[in-house]
Amino acid sequence: MSAAALQAGSLLAVADSRHWVFDMDGTLTEPVHDFDLIRRELDIPPEADILHHLAGLPAQRAAESHAWLMQHERALAEASTPAPGAVALVRALHAGGCHLGILTRNARELAQVTLSAIGLDDCFAAEEIIGRWEVEPKPSPAGLQFFVERWQVTPAAMRMVGDHYYDLATARAAGVPGVLINQHGDPWPDMAQWRARDCAQLLECWQNKATV
Ligand SMILES: [Mg+2]
Repeated sequence: MSAAALQAGSLLAVADSRHWVFDMDGTLTEPVHDFDLIRRELDIPPEADILHHLAGLPAQRAAESHAWLMQHERALAEASTPAPGAVALVRALHAGGCHLGILTRNARELAQVTLSAIGLDDCFAAEEIIGRWEVEPKPSPAGLQFFVERWQVTPAAMRMVGDHYYDLATARAAGVPGVLINQHGDPWPDMAQWRARDCAQLLECWQNKATV
């Protein structure tokens, strides 16, 4: 069965959580990463997973590649702009006392630069921003398992919101309901629990729940 697009029946269910983990790039921000360019610059095969490929390089080469990647991504982070509804959604969840985490394949340091650029840096504790150096990167479930332990909550009570296949695969591997946003249609059938247009639609769900 394909993911349920957000219709009346699922409006409340998706918002029925106080433990939210967000992907960052392309989920809370407008997508700007050109992964093909990164692969070309770092001599990574077109279909290869970038972080996995770098992990397999000799130490010196891996260090040089990571240094280039950090410099490249820092410029993107500083110029980040919020995705539709992202600031309002995160602010509403934060004001509602929800636990909020970031799980990104970017670096924690750059996630903090990004969150500052879009005006959300006060909504996420530094230790609840999990990047590529804190745990095995997505699609490993390790990041979500970190939040399960930290928040002492069942996976089913959490939500993982993202825009990429890896976010959904991570959620599925950890037993966390995944919410796909900022994608047209249903590019990865059976992978998401719910699909929403964007953060603005998730905010509507949250607000509808609050008024029931
Ligand atoms: Mg993303």
